[in-house]
Amino acid sequence: MLGNEKTGRRVLELPESLSAALEAESRRAGRDPEALALEALRRGLGLPGAERTVYLSAPVNALLEGIYRQSTSLAELKRQGDFGLGTFNDLDGELTLLDGVVYQIRGDGSVSTPDDQTRTPFACVSFFTPDTTEDFAAPNGSFDAREFEDLLLRLIPSENMLYCLRVDGEFETVKTRSVPRQESYRPLVEVTAEQPVFEFEDLRGTLVGFYAPAFMQSLVVPGVHLHFLSEDRTKGGHLLACRPRQARVGVQHAPRLTLGLPMTLDFLTASFTRPVEADLQKAER
Ligand SMILES: [Zn+2]
Repeated sequence: MLGNEKTGRRVLELPESLSAALEAESRRAGRDPEALALEALRRGLGLPGAERTVYLSAPVNALLEGIYRQSTSLAELKRQGDFGLGTFNDLDGELTLLDGVVYQIRGDGSVSTPDDQTRTPFACVSFFTPDTTEDFAAPNGSFDAREFEDLLLRLIPSENMLYCLRVDGEFETVKTRSVPRQESYRPLVEVTAEQPVFEFEDLRGTLVGFYAPAFMQSLVVPGVHLHFLSEDRTKGGHLLACRPRQARVGVQHAPRLTLGLPMTLDFLTASFTRPVEADLQKAER
């Protein structure tokens, strides 16, 4: 094992025969060799990730009802994925999980890396190994928000499958929001009506998130749900709109969902009567 000074990640040197086999499989499958190698390692070591599973720590309707405290720690979350999004207990900011690191984007706009004992009431994660990676450049300067959403939706082969989406890009503008810390039981739709909104210009960064089918709307946010993190890791939030100049888009299908049902009194005694669809439209757009 050798260290890579630039990324801080460990580098494994492969014997020539394995390296050649990996290159051949990469060409055959049209997939990134590193993603293939990571998937094979996870499978060989019996770790989650080889199964292309999305892990959901709790159904989103609990969050919509104002249940902002659950017992899933970030340590547990990282065992289920290296990529994803969510929030923190007491709704203390937006959560972005990128390359195995959890970032907390608070209501004041600050970005920090909380410790592994921090807990989340809702998070959706996976091990990201893209099936396809494509580069796009806007023909007229930048894609507007609508063009960009259409571009992402065109890359999704079926609206009935879960997909992980990663976009590394250069952005003319990015508009995000975060959520201010809350006491429990105030419905999410009321909280987000007063959400702090941030607007950034001329920066590079990464969008992390998922596409989920409409029929999963009591479990996850349906459609495209993305969180942003700037390249220098100082800005971010739940994406409201953006104008990318260029974008590298990775898409991974995920045919399995693992759903955690929280063993907390609040969750076990809640009655989920809220009209989910209308609230999600307001709270997440
Ligand atoms: Zn979000």
